[in-house]
Amino acid sequence: MKERADKSVDKAAVDRRSFLSVALSTCAFTPLATLSLQLATSLAGSLTKEQRDSMTPSQVNDELKKGNERFRAGKMAPRDYLAEKRSSAAGQYPAAVILGCLDSRVPAEIVFDAGLGDTFVGRVAGNVVNDDMLGSMEFACAVSGAKLVLVLGHTACGAVKGAIDDVVLGNLTGLLARIKPAVAGTKFDGEKSSKNASYVDAVARTNVVLVLAEIRRRSPILEELEKKGSIKIVGAMYDLATGAVEFIG
Ligand SMILES: [Zn+2]
Repeated sequence: MKERADKSVDKAAVDRRSFLSVALSTCAFTPLATLSLQLATSLAGSLTKEQRDSMTPSQVNDELKKGNERFRAGKMAPRDYLAEKRSSAAGQYPAAVILGCLDSRVPAEIVFDAGLGDTFVGRVAGNVVNDDMLGSMEFACAVSGAKLVLVLGHTACGAVKGAIDDVVLGNLTGLLARIKPAVAGTKFDGEKSSKNASYVDAVARTNVVLVLAEIRRRSPILEELEKKGSIKIVGAMYDLATGAVEFIG
């Protein structure tokens, strides 16, 4: 029984360092690569520059998908945050920058099962961009070397509901105005109300698509990196009920 448990832990530990495994994925089935992976795992550290730089944008995207699958399955990697803290204190080499919603139920690091130093995360209600967020993304990719820009919307988004309902409240009014183009731009057959969950989610999806377009339009730096293939810019929707992330382009 103990041996089985140990094997289980070993496997989890290997899964846990899945970001590391990407660097080795081209030869992941050779004994040497497996050994290397186990050695890297034993270090229990954050991504190194070499490991991050060896990944393609698509591989980074795949790692996020795998991390979400672990989260959904309730098989999240056991983490040693203190070890990750120690290994990343002198430098960070995150592989992705994620723009998510303020919503307390969608912490990107958790739903993608990522560790300290693995991802940059910016969060604001409705996952909209402004100059500061674009600047942060440009820092993440053009300066720090992240390979993926991910805009993460989610179901039942309160900010989207607020935009649909034309909520007026202090500084929130201006924030919700950034979501209004998604309300106007969503084709929908049925009741267009914040009480209609399908409609709310359709608007949230449109919002992600529009934010992706806005990033490309307002950031020539990110657009150029994408054209060169240095980064990918993608969107996704997180389902509060299932925990699943659906990538939408
Ligand atoms: Zn939200």
